[in-house]
Amino acid sequence: MELLFELTKEGRKGYRLPELDVPRVNLTEVIPEGYIRRELNLPELSELEVVRHFTKLSQLNYAIDTTMVPLGSCTMKYNPRINEELANMPEFLSVHPLTPEELVQGTLRVAYELKELLKELGGFADVSLQPAAGAQGEFLGLLLILAYHRDRGNDKKRKILIPDSAHGTNPASAAICGFDVVTVKSDENGELDWEDFMKKLGEDTAALMITNPNTLGIFERKVKRMAEELHKRDALLYMDGANFNALVGVARPGDWGVDVMHFNLHKTFSTPHGGGGPGSGPVGVSERLKPYLPVPQVEFDGKKYYLNWNIPKSVGKLLAFYGHFGMWLRALAYILSYGREIDKVAKYAVLNARYLRSLLKGVFNDPYSHVPCMHEFVLSATNLLKYNTNAMGVAKRLLDYGFYAPTVYFPLVVREALMIEPTETEDPDTLREFAEALKSIVKEAKENPDRLNKAPFRTPVRRIKEAEANRKPVLRYRGK
Ligand SMILES: *Cc1c(COP(=O)(O)O)cnc(C)c1O
Repeated sequence: MELLFELTKEGRKGYRLPELDVPRVNLTEVIPEGYIRRELNLPELSELEVVRHFTKLSQLNYAIDTTMVPLGSCTMKYNPRINEELANMPEFLSVHPLTPEELVQGTLRVAYELKELLKELGGFADVSLQPAAGAQGEFLGLLLILAYHRDRGNDKKRKILIPDSAHGTNPASAAICGFDVVTVKSDENGELDWEDFMKKLGEDTAALMITNPNTLGIFERKVKRMAEELHKRDALLYMDGANFNALVGVARPGDWGVDVMHFNLHKTFSTPHGGGGPGSGPVGVSERLKPYLPVPQVEFDGKKYYLNWNIPKSVGKLLAFYGHFGMWLRALAYILSYGREIDKVAKYAVLNARYLRSLLKGVFNDPYSHVPCMHEFVLSATNLLKYNTNAMGVAKRLLDYGFYAPTVYFPLVVREALMIEPTETEDPDTLREFAEALKSIVKEAKENPDRLNKAPFRTPVRRIKEAEANRKPVLRYRGK
């Protein structure tokens, strides 16, 4: 498709300004010559042309509104429209972050109520809503762990233990906070290897960072024992809560002894995501870490809602203002609309994953077939290597079938990984269609692997160089 800069036609306009009713001034009288930009080179188009351009662009997208997006670990569920309506209410949209508290009691109440509900759902002593994404929640969680050990004058706590199946943001966050990362193996059931964990756990361990269910979609059954062993050595337990969709309303990580966990509102609580945000990654903490939470915390004194800046041991502030309020509002509406039935989210998410996995039995290798999955599962396309194609081929060819691809080549502990998370919002017919598409792709792999290796054929852009936009970013249009 052409860019707006290529569609431009000289003199075409999408606006008409009212007649000038103030005296005309000579620009150079008010702005020094060197600062005046005389040529803007903006595209010149009519309003209709602009509308058509962006509408066409939006139609090229794969989106949850048009197709299933089975991206493992991302929880791409339907975003209920009612939440969008609420988030677009002018009463909330037009609030300035510096408005005095007494004029924004309703807005503060939204934040307070969401905080209280997340505390309840996670089993935590308190929650900070500030982090702008899961990864920033991890960063905050590790800052809290650092503050905890420093406050106790313990400078031996240098190491963070992280399983080899972890999301890349886990070791990255630990490294940014100055910790040394120690990798712990997974065992043959896909859980944390207990022996390896006990071997690596020591007086210098600051915390263990697990994900539960982990990125293989497998529940870490020994989570309570992990917390006990850590606490005996004054180490803490971080839980990556990206997979909370498998637990919400059913189990509470705080009850297992988890000291800190981030929620991904844009995963579990249906706020829209993809294309880089905005996200929201509130952090829940146990009593141990509560004194260090960032300022301000939203509180209620029985009469009014207010921002509490008086947290003496606080790690400080994470963002210029308070966090992504629009996401909070959507998440609150989502939680309230389920009410006490929110456990159905988790139960149907797990049921859907188990059903889809059963439909795909024998289609790919399933390295953990002896272990039940939770809300997602990881298959291995190694059975296609003998036909000279692979997981990437499957992912690209799926686009031609009208489905978004699963997460591929992650987690790193599974070769040729296809990580599939259907979420609870897909119906059984869609799951069957998706399974049929995969079966037919595997058939193609045997008969004509090039169909996979050269796919996609039906997308506006064919095979792209995956890392090029990152390695050689082109950020400026320079004409053809
Ligand atoms: C998505 C995800 C993260 C990071 O969360 P963002 O909100 O994308 O920053 C961390 N860990 C796991 C397991 C995830 O799936």
